[in-house]
Amino acid sequence: MASRHNQRAFTLVELLVVTTIISSLIGLLLPAVQAAREAARRIACANHVKQITMALQNHISSRTVLPSGCVVDQSWGTTYRYHPYDVINESQNGRHGTSWMLHILPYIEQQYLFDQWDFSTNVLGNKPVANTDISQLSGITVAVPGNVDRSTGLIIECPNLPVIDGVNIVDAFQEAIGDYPIFVANDAYCATLGELRYGAGRDVENLLMLTLGTGIGGGIALDNQVCHGPRNMMGEIGHMIIVPDGPRCGCGNIGCFEAVAGKQAIIDLARCQLQYARQSLIDQLCGGDPEKITPQVVAEAARQGDEVAVEVMNNIGYYIGLALCNGIIMCDPDLIILGGGIAAAGEVLFAPVRRTVRYRSPYSGFDVSKIVPAQLGNQAGIYGAAALVWENLG
Ligand SMILES: [Zn+2]
Repeated sequence: MASRHNQRAFTLVELLVVTTIISSLIGLLLPAVQAAREAARRIACANHVKQITMALQNHISSRTVLPSGCVVDQSWGTTYRYHPYDVINESQNGRHGTSWMLHILPYIEQQYLFDQWDFSTNVLGNKPVANTDISQLSGITVAVPGNVDRSTGLIIECPNLPVIDGVNIVDAFQEAIGDYPIFVANDAYCATLGELRYGAGRDVENLLMLTLGTGIGGGIALDNQVCHGPRNMMGEIGHMIIVPDGPRCGCGNIGCFEAVAGKQAIIDLARCQLQYARQSLIDQLCGGDPEKITPQVVAEAARQGDEVAVEVMNNIGYYIGLALCNGIIMCDPDLIILGGGIAAAGEVLFAPVRRTVRYRSPYSGFDVSKIVPAQLGNQAGIYGAAALVWENLG
């Protein structure tokens, strides 16, 4: 018995030694793996910035009117769309597709430019300005989907586009295109400024805006100014904790608003229901391919009364409503504007949002009819970017 006991003890010691060796090896290898990953990220990042700045450079050197249209860069899945007044860059980052915007603004009399914009249909550039010379560019706003230092242009963190973390976007553009005034801001900040000056919020001074998409952006305007805070974090409502033990967010935290009500949350909820073999129009609309489920498909099915889709939208609307209840208490807005691709779902989303606010924010007495869709649609950021240049240049 004694020898068996000794043998067992010896085996445990051996195991301990082996475990220690393996841990040490992992400890040695891990920094090397992390360094390799970081190097790959830096290369990817440099390529990405190069692609965009090259496109911009070409158009500026051509000194012609930017054509309306788009170029798709297959290698990066990047779409550059050009309008006479702006360039929008939409970038797909795998499953976590996201978009960021680059706005080029010709120097034209503001009123003249706005006369060309059709506010009734929210379509920008319906009547292109003839003979606009890009050399008259007054400034560029780069709208970043994350936290960016507005004074230096350093991108601090983009949870859904980490490839550009740590880039100084102002330096990158100035290196590529020369001495144009370049401004940088969070994309939701730009959208909020756009809606405040020219959209649904033009008659109020205090508003709360959410941009609902892959991520959830937010903006707060008080006394007719969009606030940013000393660390540019004010209005980052997407990372407000809504479900403390919920799913992990792109920012690393758990249960953020974005993680329970963003694009992926809608897709996951729908997939989960279909997995339980529930009959749904979503399945038909996607031809039975779960990879083809998008928020737009779910919204369409909900509009047609599909039970599963309505449940998903109610669920998402409930979380959006809860976030708004918190937001109302924090900033006491005159108006709440919901923008971004997911808000385009319309009443199937707005109804549960308003219902939740009505039931869960009785103390604030907020009038739920003041929860309205963005008027400038996906163009809100462009209007805001324009306003940022003009307001900075005076
Ligand atoms: Zn988060």
